[in-house]
Order: sequence, then structure tokens, then C-alpha cells
Amino acid sequence: MSKPKIVILGAGYGGIMTSKSLEKLLKSGEADVTLINKHDYHYLTTQLHKTGVGTAADRQIAMSIPELINPNKTRFLRAAVSSVDINTQEVHLEGGDTVKYDYLVIALGFEIETFGISGVKENAFAIRSFRSSKTIYHQIIKQFNLYKEDHDPSRLTIVVAGGGFTGIEMMGELADGLPKLCKEHDIPYEKIRIVAIEAAPSVIPFFPKQSIQYTTEILKKRNIELITSTKILECTAEKVILENNLEIPTKTLIWSCGVKGNSIVHKWGLPIENGKIPVDSELRVKNMKNIFSLGDCSLFMKDEKNALPPTAQVALQQAPVCAKNIVASIRGELLNTFEYHHKGSVASIGLMAAVGKVGNFRLSGLFGAFMKQVIEARYLFNLGGPSLIIKQHFGVSREPVKVTAKQ
Ligand code: FAD
Ligand code: NAD
Repeated sequence: MSKPKIVILGAGYGGIMTSKSLEKLLKSGEADVTLINKHDYHYLTTQLHKTGVGTAADRQIAMSIPELINPNKTRFLRAAVSSVDINTQEVHLEGGDTVKYDYLVIALGFEIETFGISGVKENAFAIRSFRSSKTIYHQIIKQFNLYKEDHDPSRLTIVVAGGGFTGIEMMGELADGLPKLCKEHDIPYEKIRIVAIEAAPSVIPFFPKQSIQYTTEILKKRNIELITSTKILECTAEKVILENNLEIPTKTLIWSCGVKGNSIVHKWGLPIENGKIPVDSELRVKNMKNIFSLGDCSLFMKDEKNALPPTAQVALQQAPVCAKNIVASIRGELLNTFEYHHKGSVASIGLMAAVGKVGNFRLSGLFGAFMKQVIEARYLFNLGGPSLIIKQHFGVSREPVKVTAKQ
């Protein structure tokens, strides 16, 4: 009898940790596992703001997938998925190849929510992937160079849209990284403007009052101009247009106004709710026995009204349960129910400050920043043990991942 074929789509947090868990759980020869991802590197989405400003080396953010998995247990295929045929149980890849599956895991992550705002898709810069974040870095440098020719101040104005966690992490990183970048490129830092625009009355509106106050003070101290209670209405290559007849001339709008599930899954005949794939308590796609989904492209209802948020924390807790349930399905055993345990949230504001909440305990300042580092290190530990932490931080004995950015 041929071995069951398990195919995992996406090697982000959810996909790669599902494949790592399967490596541990499956007996030798029990199943064939194929992991498919459009790049041959796994990137730390939670650190992409650093790539955008150049405050972390590429090798610290993007890691070669073949080095992270056990090639004797998992076959890695670098390919972009174009569709899935749930009737023939085939994954179609760009370029025409197909891959057969008996069990499928869909972990294709998120895409940027633009709310259909005019000009955003065409002109704004997104913190979506390693490549898109690298593009932000190249845009900043490009504008520095052009400023030297025409002294147009809008080239040195960087606008961050959205003051959620992604937005404040980006603002903090810009405040940390731009002085050095300016020095390297001979640009007067005092001419730089970082402007943050948030539709709600404050940044991180969903957080306790004291955390909002702390974050606002830190951002202001770092000379970030905060415009709150103001929606972005439109953006062009030259300016951002806001409510209340405001306009900001800029060539660099960084869009961090929220995310939605990867829409590539919408045409595959799967159930779709709120733009995502609804899953049952065992992480199987609703009414399907052999298709699982997790992370940002899936919808897991924690109660009747509320879905789990799109966070790495959720994807990472789902991955081992997803792997266990695939193995249980193969063995004809009972499946496990997924239960989410919120461990807290911490967002960095540059290297030396952070804001967060663990249980009822509010985190801020240096301690918060330290905790953020601990959380990131813990992920690296789970992914590749202590050696990966050392490699990532000190660049020992490995070639840098070869990645280029579209400019
Ligand atoms: P992703 O990590 O998006 O992975 C999806 C994978 O699928 C990617 O490797 C992608 O290349 C691949 N893929 C997509 N389309 C295709 C295709 N067609 N074919 C092949 N491969 C494809 N969450 C936290 O809990 N804590 C944090 O501190 C935190 N910080 C964040 C900071 C930033 C700047 C951002 C943007 C997000 C942050 N998040 C954080 C949210 C977190 O990053 C996401 O929830 C998480 O990445 C979701 O994991 P995932 O595996 O579902 O998807
Ligand atoms: P978000 O939805 O949390 O925040 C987006 C912000 O943009 C909101 O405050 C919203 O009011 C604002 N906004 C929306 N439309 C706007 C407009 N037209 N003009 C101005 N402002 C507008 O999105 P996010 O910050 O990208 O986060 C996405 C997910 O990733 C969340 O689940 C978040 O928790 C997670 N995340 C977590 C961390 C962390 O834990 N450190 C870091 C980054 C992201």
C-alpha cells in the first residue's frame, strides 16, 4: 500500500512548525511529507520592520528552509501554489506542475488590507514579506539619493499609516535606525519627518489607557508627529490625502492599517467566511476530513462571536495540534481539540522600549524590550535549537541566505 501523502502549503510560522512537529511524530516510512513555499527561505514576519529600516542583517530575518527541516523526513519544494483541486486532491503550482495529496495543510498566511482606499495598492509600501520590507529599505535610500539632487523635502518625509502594533513597531524602528542611515548617506537627520496617522483617537486603541499614554509619550519623545482621529482617504506617488482637508507630501507611505487572509484560497471550492477558511475545533476545514488550515488564512472561532486574531502566537500554538491531528487521522485515532492560551502581547518601539500586557501585568520600557527579545529567541529555539539562536545572532558557519529585493 502506498504511503499517505501530506502536503503543507506555506512555510511561515504555521506551516514550518507543522512540518517540524510531523518530523517528530511520524514513524519512519509512515507518510510522505512535502512542504511547499514560494521562497526557499522562512522569514520572521514579527521582525520585518527591522528589515524595512535595515536595523537587522538579512540573515537574522530570513533563514534557508532546507537548513531548518530534516531532508530525510520532509521534502521541500520551492514553488508558488496557484490553486488546489479538492476533487482530484491535487495542488497546482505556477509553472504547471501538480502535487498529489491525501492530507493537505493550508498555511498561506495574510495579505494587506487596503479597504479599497484609492492609490494604496499602487503607491504605498507594505510590511508583508521579507521582500516587501526590503523594498521599503531601498525606497528610503533611493529617496535619500534623489534628495541630494533636488532637495525636495517630501523625499525625507516618511508616513506610517495605522497605529496598531505593526505601525508602532515600524515607527520605533524608523526612529532608531534613521539617524545611522542618514549619517551613512550624508543626509541631515534634522530634515527627516516621521509622521504617523491613525484613524482612532489614539495609537494602539485596543490597549489599556496607561499603555496608550506611555506609547504616545515615547513616540513624541522620538520626534514622531502623531496625527490621530484622522483617516487616510487616498494616496498618490506624491502625497497622502487625509480627512479634514489635510495633505502630506511624501514619496514614502508605509501601510500598516491591518491584514486579511490570503485571498488565493477563495477560488478553490473551500468554505470562506470573512475572507478566511473556517476550521472546526480540530483545525480541519469545516466539513472536510482531510484538509486542515491554520494561521492567518484560517478562521478559528474562540466563541460564538469572536475569532482568534491573526498572530504568530496563534499559528504557533495551532501547528503542533494540526500535526497531531493529521497523524491521528492516518492512524484512525481520535483527534485533539485545539485550545488557545493567550500568553500576552508585546510590541517593540525600537530596540530599547516596548509596550505589552501579560495577563493583568502591563509591560513597558526596557523590561518590555527585554521580554520581546526573549519571545523572539524562544521561537528560534523551538525552530532550530540553541545552535540556530547562535547562528542568527553571530552568523557562525553559514552562508547568508541569498535573497534579492525587487526595487
Ligand atoms: P505567514 O507567516 O504569512 O506565512 C505564510 C507563508 O506562505 C509565507 O512563507 C509565504 O511566503 C507563503 N506563501 C504565501 N502565498 C504562497 C503561495 N501562493 N505559494 C507558496 N507559498 C506561499 N504576531 C505575534 O504573535 N507576535 C508578534 O510580535 C508579531 N509581530 C508582527 C510584526 C509585524 C511587522 C507583522 C506584519 C506581523 C506581526 N505579527 C505578530 C503577526 C504574525 O506575523 C502573523 O500572524 C504570522 O506571520 C502568521 O503566520 P502564518 O504561518 O499564518 O503566515
Ligand atoms: P491592526 O488592525 O491591529 O491595526 C491597524 C490600525 O490602522 C488600527 O489602529 C486602525 O484604526 C488603523 N487604520 C485603519 N484604517 C486606517 C485609515 N484609513 N487611516 C488611518 N488609520 C487606519 O493591524 P496591524 O497593526 O497590522 O496588526 C495585524 C495583526 O498582527 C494583529 O493581529 C496584531 O496583533 C498582529 N501584530 C502583533 C504584533 C505583536 O504582538 N508585537 C506586532 C505586529 C502585528
